[in-house]
Amino acid sequence: MRIVIGSLSHESNSFNPKCMTLTDFSPIYGDDVLSFLARGGRSPLQGIYRIIQEYGAETLPTIYARATPGGLVSLEAYQAMKKGFLAELSKFEGVDGVCLHLHGSMAVEGIGDAEGDLLTEVRAVAGEKVPIVTSLDMHATITGTMMEKADAFVGFRTAPHIDTMETGERAAKLLMDSLKRGYRLTTCAVGLPLLVSGEMSESAKPPMTSLIKRMEELDREPNVLSSSLLLGFPWVDVSYNQGSALVVTKGDPDLAQKKALGLAEELWSKLDQFTFTTEAYPFEKSLEVALGARTGPVCIADCGDNPGAGGSQNIVYPLQVMLQQKVGNSLFGAIADQKAYEHCTTHKPGSTFTLTLGKLSTKSDAPGITVTATLKSVGKLGSMPAVAIRVDGIDVVISNDRVMMLDPKDLETLGLKPKEYRILVLKSGYLDPKYEAIASYGLLALTPGFTNQDFAALDYNKIGRPIHPLDQGFNYDPREYIFPTRYEKGERV
Ligand SMILES: [Zn+2]
Repeated sequence: MRIVIGSLSHESNSFNPKCMTLTDFSPIYGDDVLSFLARGGRSPLQGIYRIIQEYGAETLPTIYARATPGGLVSLEAYQAMKKGFLAELSKFEGVDGVCLHLHGSMAVEGIGDAEGDLLTEVRAVAGEKVPIVTSLDMHATITGTMMEKADAFVGFRTAPHIDTMETGERAAKLLMDSLKRGYRLTTCAVGLPLLVSGEMSESAKPPMTSLIKRMEELDREPNVLSSSLLLGFPWVDVSYNQGSALVVTKGDPDLAQKKALGLAEELWSKLDQFTFTTEAYPFEKSLEVALGARTGPVCIADCGDNPGAGGSQNIVYPLQVMLQQKVGNSLFGAIADQKAYEHCTTHKPGSTFTLTLGKLSTKSDAPGITVTATLKSVGKLGSMPAVAIRVDGIDVVISNDRVMMLDPKDLETLGLKPKEYRILVLKSGYLDPKYEAIASYGLLALTPGFTNQDFAALDYNKIGRPIHPLDQGFNYDPREYIFPTRYEKGERV
C-alpha cells in the first residue's frame, strides 16, 4: 500500500499583529522529510511514519513544517508551503491513503481556516475514495470544511502535550486498519461554543481527568474507533472559533453522532469546572505569594505573554514590578527583543551599559524600560541565540526571537543556575514538565499580553456568539452544533 504523509502545523494568534513568515517555518519537502524522520524524535509525524512502516506500507513524504505559535501565518508564507506540498503530492499516483498531522488552529491572513483549505486541496488531488486521516493538536478548531474533506481526526489528549507521537500512531492505525479490513471511517463532530485556555484544562486535573477516562471507555465500545475532545484555541478572532467533541466509528454514522452528542453533553455539564488548575493571581499578588514561599525556586508563569500560545514575548511589565520591588536573586525571561539582543552582543561579558528593552504593553507605540545592565553571558537558549544580563540582582534573558521556555537546562547553557534562584518568572503558560520538576511551587500570573487569560479584555469582533465565557448561562443544545460530514447520517457504509 502507498500512503502519503506530511505535517504542516501552527497555532495562530490573531491578536498578535506580527505575521509568521516562511523563515519561521523552515519547511522541508519530499525525501528530506524521511531523512528528518530518520533522526528520531517524538513528533506526531514520527508516530504516523512508524505505524505505516509497521504495516509494511510504502511512505510517500510531502512536507514537514512547523513554527512556534505566533500571529497569523502570512498569505505569502502559506501559499509557498502549500505550493511545495501540492508539488510533492502530485508526484504520487495510485495512492491508497493519506495520513497528515495538522495543528487544527492554523489561521492564515485573508483565508482563516488553513486546515480546511489544505484538506480541500488534498481531497481534490487524492479523489473522493481515498481515505484521509489527520492527527490534530488538543487545541484544534474543527470547521465544516475540514469535516467535509477528511474522513477522520484524532486529537492529542494531554496538556501539556506529551502524547504527540502516540496520537500520530493512533491516527495512522485508524487509517491502516480501515484499509486492511476494508471498512469506511465515519466521523461526527459536535461544536462546543466555548473559549477555554490550556491553563484551565490541564489533562492531569479535573474536569479533563474524568473526560479523558470517558473517552477511553468510549474507545472500547463496539464499533467506536476513536474519540477526541478538541478544545479550540481562544486567542483567535474568527467566526468559526469553538471547541468540539468528535467520534470516529467503523462505518456507522448514526453511532458516531450519538456518541459525539453524548461526549459534548458530558463536557458541557462540567463547564464550571474549567477554571485555572494552578493558583492564578495578578502579577503583583503572585510575586507576593512567591516571596512568602520557604523554599525556591518558585516558578511564576507570565502567562499573558506566552510564546507557546502566540504571545509577542516582549512585555516587560512584570520585570518593571520586580525591579520596583527590588526582588533580587531571581530570573526573568526570555524577552524576545532582537534590537536589545544585538546591542548586548556588541559588549564584552562583565561590562556594564545602558539598555532599553521590551515593551510595557501590547500597544504598538508602548515604550520599553531602560536599565543599567551587566552582561553575564552570550550564547543560546535551546537553539535560539540569547544573552543573560544582570539588572539590580535580577538575571534577565534576552533572546534574538521568540522561544518557548521548555527546559531549565537551556538556562544552564547560558551559565545560569535555575535551581538556585528564589523566583523564576517565565514567559510561559502552564509550566512545562521539566520546569515543574525543579519548581518548589508553581503559580500562574495573569499578566497583560496577546495571550491574556481575561478573554473579556480582548477585542473579539468576528467570533460567533453566544460563546462561553463571553456569554454566560445560554442554553446549549448539542444537536444544533452537529457538523455535516462526508457520509450522511443513516448512510450505511
Ligand atoms: Zn495545544
